[in-house]
Amino acid sequence: MKISNWGNYPVIDAEMVTPSSYDQVKQIALRSPSLIARGLGRCYGDSSLNEKIISTTRLNHIVSFDEKNGILCCEAGVSLEEILDVFVPRGWFLPVTPGTKFVTIGGAVASDVHGKNHHQAGSFCNYVHSLRLMLSDGKIIFCSKEENRDIFEATCGGMGLTGIILEATFQLIKIETAYIRQKIEKAKNLEQIFQLFEASNNSTYTVAWIDCLQKGNHLGRSVMIRGEHALAKEIPAVKNPLILPEKMKFNIPFNFPNISLSAFSVKIFNEIWNLKYGFVPSIIDYNTFFYPLDSILHWNRLYGKNGLAQYQCLFSKESSYEAIKELLEIISKSGEGSPLGVLKLFGKQNGILSFPQEGYTLALDFPVRNSVFQLFQKLDEVVMKYNGRIYLTKDSRMSTEVFKHGYRNDLPSFQIVKRRIDKENKFQSLQSRRLEI
Ligand SMILES: Cc1cc2nc3c(=O)[nH]c(=O)nc-3n(C[C@H](O)[C@H](O)[C@H](O)COP(=O)(O)OP(=O)(O)OC[C@H]3O[C@@H](n4cnc5c(N)ncnc54)[C@H](O)[C@@H]3O)c2cc1C
Repeated sequence: MKISNWGNYPVIDAEMVTPSSYDQVKQIALRSPSLIARGLGRCYGDSSLNEKIISTTRLNHIVSFDEKNGILCCEAGVSLEEILDVFVPRGWFLPVTPGTKFVTIGGAVASDVHGKNHHQAGSFCNYVHSLRLMLSDGKIIFCSKEENRDIFEATCGGMGLTGIILEATFQLIKIETAYIRQKIEKAKNLEQIFQLFEASNNSTYTVAWIDCLQKGNHLGRSVMIRGEHALAKEIPAVKNPLILPEKMKFNIPFNFPNISLSAFSVKIFNEIWNLKYGFVPSIIDYNTFFYPLDSILHWNRLYGKNGLAQYQCLFSKESSYEAIKELLEIISKSGEGSPLGVLKLFGKQNGILSFPQEGYTLALDFPVRNSVFQLFQKLDEVVMKYNGRIYLTKDSRMSTEVFKHGYRNDLPSFQIVKRRIDKENKFQSLQSRRLEI
């Protein structure tokens, strides 16, 4: 079958099997010389692509829940959406969530995903107590910070290359409502948005949208969005503040010529920017705050049949301003359309190969075409110059050189564990081969 991930690039011919028991997983693992696990395919590029793919979507049971302490154990194919549907009405929320809820727990662990609260909370695996992992010989092991610690740390952010995650036990956080108190503030340029981030360390959730079309004094013009979980007393009129009313979802039925999403996102940005009287804090439901694009199913099709590529990079705090300024200048000059970028502040690193490290991360979506890949090479030069790194789960084209430079302090430790537990290099992806992981 033809298969691709969220970016619809690359598309490959692969055999995908969907086991429904650990025994079936074992049989497949034992008879396949090479394979990779796949969740909901929300990585953008080739991290979960291989000629043989093992889909975890039928391993989707909740194993146990400790209601007193909020500790959930579930199979790897359970999605964040399923967890939210079941546990938000009971007053529990995910400790960390990416910008889509159509992600499995296996995928969240393997990419060690981050959210808008990384500066305070760290990444998803900070909250993972233990994992059940199937190794290349079919053996199932437990790993945690206490048991098989090096395997645990290599699996958190290890992009599926240590084995197949079967189950995860992790912490949920207590909430009083399903709503977020949101505050928006404008920044005239890059300098101001960095100041706003530094002044927002106490806010639980922070993110900025950057208007990448601006130049000169307005380079980096942005809006900062902050959020806190709303308390029940803040919304007295809502009868059951943990239950959300049903919302309509829109479906994009086919690939569009790639113009529509850009135009749509720029329109929203400009509407926010042009509000005359500043911003009154507002209370919005968690879906609108965390997953604005999830209400448009298959929005990736708006980028046309060639697909989309995301460029997400990260720099240390000291070099972020200069590096991101250079990137924005190159992008704005290039005329290639990523009209909006997303900027986030990260705290400390987790895991071995995990992407987040203390500093700023910028993410930009582009339609796939030759000129965009040429632009990416120019952006890579800036990333190399400032010792930055690129997020594996968003990547489909990075060179080995850029990867090895960005992960130079982490890759050797990861490879020691990988070579010990997967001697024959069974778990591999197109990406791991391209990057010589
Ligand atoms: C709209 C959108 C917004 C996003 N926002 C963010 C964000 O804010 N922060 C962020 O960190 N990420 C973000 N992502 C990326 C996404 O969270 C990750 O790519 C995530 O890993 C996808 O999970 P998945 O279940 O779809 O896994 P897949 O995409 O299928 O696989 C991703 C990786 O996980 C591995 N994997 C999956 N399941 C298993 C398993 N059971 N055992 C071992 N390995 C496994 C795969 O081999 C692969 O390496 C976003 C993606 C989209 C499309």
